[in-house]
Amino acid sequence: GERAPTDLNALCEEYLRLAYQGLRAKDKSFNAELKTYLAPDLPLVNAVGADLGRVLLNLFNNAFYAVQQRQRANGEPGYMPTVSLTTKHVGSTVEIQVTDNGTGMSEAVQQKIFQPFFTTKPTGEGTGLGLSLSHDIVAKGHGGSLTVESQPGQGTTFSVALPLTKTN
Ligand code: ADP
Ligand code: MG
Repeated sequence: GERAPTDLNALCEEYLRLAYQGLRAKDKSFNAELKTYLAPDLPLVNAVGADLGRVLLNLFNNAFYAVQQRQRANGEPGYMPTVSLTTKHVGSTVEIQVTDNGTGMSEAVQQKIFQPFFTTKPTGEGTGLGLSLSHDIVAKGHGGSLTVESQPGQGTTFSVALPLTKTN
């Protein structure tokens, strides 16, 4: 696809909503709290919108899956599945963070998540290709980085950093 100046706040919100609606279409009793912290005056990023959209959809789908798993596993009283979206302008970079309070991941799992076909999901629920494709789209396609921080039993944050200098 072609690169074009892209409003990432709008793109992120669109895909957050798509992912949430998609999950609720399959599981009508599922509710999550969605939090958005969108930087005002975020610079446009010269991006391939359809490609970044796939990255975002996968990050949000993974986040909703993780909170749904935590909810199903424990029935912890008072547990509220929460998925947060943050955008920031940091120096010459635009950052997107997707945070969930889901299952989290061990160090051993974190080391494999960007490998093609690595999945912990049952057959039919995951191909294990999402994060490996996403990593390529962000790194090779946009000169950026895709990183993870996670605590087992607490949750996960994925950060997408897109350089303005390289992409504009
Ligand atoms: P898939 O979703 O098809 O399994 P991905 O490449 O998107 O493939 O993710 C690979 C694996 O990374 C998942 O199976 C899961 O184990 C782990 N993972 C990804 N995102 C999260 C998350 N937000 N919370 C917990 N684990 C995650
Ligand atoms: Mg996935």
